[in-house]
Amino acid sequence: MSGPVRNSDVLPVGEAGDPAPTTVEVTESREAQVGTLRVRRALPRQARRMVGAWCFVDHMGPAAVTEDRGIDIGPHPHTGLQTVTWLVAGEVLHRDSLGSEQIIRPGQLNLMTAGHGVSHAEERTGSYRGDLHGVQLWVAQPEQTRHGRAAFEHHPELPRRELNGGTATVIVGNLDGTISPARRDTDHLGIDLDLRAGNTTVPADPRFEYAIVVLTGALAVEGRVMEPGYFGYLGTGRDDIRLSATDDARALLIGGVPFDEPILMWWNFVARTREEVDDAQQQWTEADERFGTVDSDLPRIPVGSPPWTHRRQSDE
Ligand code: MN
Repeated sequence: MSGPVRNSDVLPVGEAGDPAPTTVEVTESREAQVGTLRVRRALPRQARRMVGAWCFVDHMGPAAVTEDRGIDIGPHPHTGLQTVTWLVAGEVLHRDSLGSEQIIRPGQLNLMTAGHGVSHAEERTGSYRGDLHGVQLWVAQPEQTRHGRAAFEHHPELPRRELNGGTATVIVGNLDGTISPARRDTDHLGIDLDLRAGNTTVPADPRFEYAIVVLTGALAVEGRVMEPGYFGYLGTGRDDIRLSATDDARALLIGGVPFDEPILMWWNFVARTREEVDDAQQQWTEADERFGTVDSDLPRIPVGSPPWTHRRQSDE
């Protein structure tokens, strides 16, 4: 449920342009392999690199896992971002270089803030057998906090809000007065929508851009039908978001004030410059104390070289 980001999806290709508020920009997620699991990567893509401060969305599973086989992502580093882990089904064990050791279950939030640097592993619990299904997202940290200390939060319960067609769980942010206790360094929102057949109206902030990821079932988003594997970008300027379902459906709605700092994402790092990425890449390779150590039996994940290094070498 993390890393590596493909170069073609993160290098600048020009502005995609925001659709008018009445339209939905639907893209198919790209399949990727993370550890032993297949994931559908909704962000970043060439056409859409961020939604507010959200810069990475992996939809993982559903996959059948056992006590011996499941998510086995060894220690790897992060910089300048928060990881948001949210499960629909299953269990995952989080361990990090701060000494955290935390099992997460459906309805709970694991939120890790990398700041200047952290490392973590995501492991099977060794006792769970069944479906594993969830999402992992990254939130880019702003300049004020991205050089700061790493941190980890586990929230066993989150506030819920009844909507006309289902229930919203506020994972991060403020849904029209229903506020998550999770740390937030920018003005962004992440909610889980558990919907029944029928219409649902979600209150929206016109300053925010929004996007939706369908987790189970199918949803019509402003009239466009979306299923798991699709990502719908809704732009800014909305007072509400109108959804309709023909059967039970589950979706994730993310949003935020457009992030105004140009970021450079490569591998598991969110930075601003190539030099910053080069430093992080080298320090992880050298097991520098910047990223600490994780008490895990899984092997550390090695990092390759950034594409500009290859280009420089082939130019010579
Ligand atoms: Mn990670």
